[in-house]
Amino acid sequence: MMKKQIAVFGSTGSIGKQTLSVCQAHRDLFATKALVFGSNVELGAAQIREFDPEIIGVFDIESAGTIAEMFPEKTVLAGSDVWSIAAFDSIDSVVNGVSGFDGVFPLINALRAGKEVALANKESVVCAGGLVHKAQEEGGGVILPVDSEQSAIFQCLAAGRKADVSSIILTASGGAFRDFSMDELANVTPEMAMKHPTWSMGKKITIDSATLFNKGLEIMEAAFLFNMDADHIKVLIHPQSVVHSMVEFEDSSVIAQLSVPDMRLAIQYALTFPERIESPAARLKLSEYAGLTFRGPDTKRFPALDMAYEALRAGLSMPVAYNSGNEVAVKRFTEGDIKFTEIPDCVCYTMNNIEKIQINSMDELLYCDAQARRLASEYVVKR
Ligand code: NDP
Ligand code: MG
Repeated sequence: MMKKQIAVFGSTGSIGKQTLSVCQAHRDLFATKALVFGSNVELGAAQIREFDPEIIGVFDIESAGTIAEMFPEKTVLAGSDVWSIAAFDSIDSVVNGVSGFDGVFPLINALRAGKEVALANKESVVCAGGLVHKAQEEGGGVILPVDSEQSAIFQCLAAGRKADVSSIILTASGGAFRDFSMDELANVTPEMAMKHPTWSMGKKITIDSATLFNKGLEIMEAAFLFNMDADHIKVLIHPQSVVHSMVEFEDSSVIAQLSVPDMRLAIQYALTFPERIESPAARLKLSEYAGLTFRGPDTKRFPALDMAYEALRAGLSMPVAYNSGNEVAVKRFTEGDIKFTEIPDCVCYTMNNIEKIQINSMDELLYCDAQARRLASEYVVKR
């Protein structure tokens, strides 16, 4: 097998580091041709020394200058030029581990250029669904899901025909505060929200897991990836994070995918699909679990789910309002400007006030994203 030439977007983040761990475990299969990160010069430089990529992208201009000085023999791109790396001829597969809306740029570029994308970044498909489909049609690129729930569904779907699927069941750990009362939720601090019970992840997705906005985004991500409507996507709280999601078929049979909670499994499967090879993740020992439990979500304490269904059903610019309103709200929460329980209120304000328009171009997408961010900031001032 020829070595797969990989570009890792977001190499210094949680997904990026775990991708490099997979690449390290299979140096015979994967070559890290390009590393792209935001501004973490120290870790980025260490990764460049260890993985020796030919191409480097550093979004922050000043950090890019520092890296270019440290590695004069390498190609270093900076600022929005980094997104072009996703379409370079020498790249076979793009791992998209950028956090937030910016993940849309490498995704669209890679798909237009016919690449395979191992997609962790969910904000991109939530916001740019239609444009992503268009890019796939134009260039023939394919998406392989990395998000553990979507990887699970992708695997479960192999058990039957798509036409015979009756519903998709997304599991959710329920986040750190799944048993908190409304009063307790109002007093959650950013430090508390940064601790996830079962997964170790980046800052934004950890807070999204606590508010259930992560699950809301995943409802829309699943709708996009598997072409399902809102009525056929369900959510179950499963605190142990062992069953990563399930698919129910017309005959009432439910197929689930299980493993230890280790993202390297999903990352590796997206890179080796359809093959399965040994992974750095531990084997699942079900006998070591006291029990696997499931229950329905409390949509009163966690309005993010109902809001996601609303955004999905409404379409147009509503998913952008949901996503980008949330990105601003999370940032303002971590800065101490709003309470934990105001995050959904901020997103609600953004959804209620955004111009409901059809998004047919990148310009229209950027217009809606900017408007959502402006509205979310306005909420913080007005409330
Ligand atoms: P992190 O915050 O840990 O990492 C984000 C990475 O993206 C960093 O390398 C950061 O660089 C880089 N980055 C951010 N903005 C830019 C930019 N404009 N240009 C280039 N690089 C940029 O996030 P995670 O790894 O946790 O999450 C990444 C994505 O994967 C998210 O969309 C998340 O929802 C999704 N995901 C993550 C999971 C996980 O287990 N972590 C599980 C499922 C999905 P730097 O730090 O150098 O600034
Ligand atoms: Mg997930």
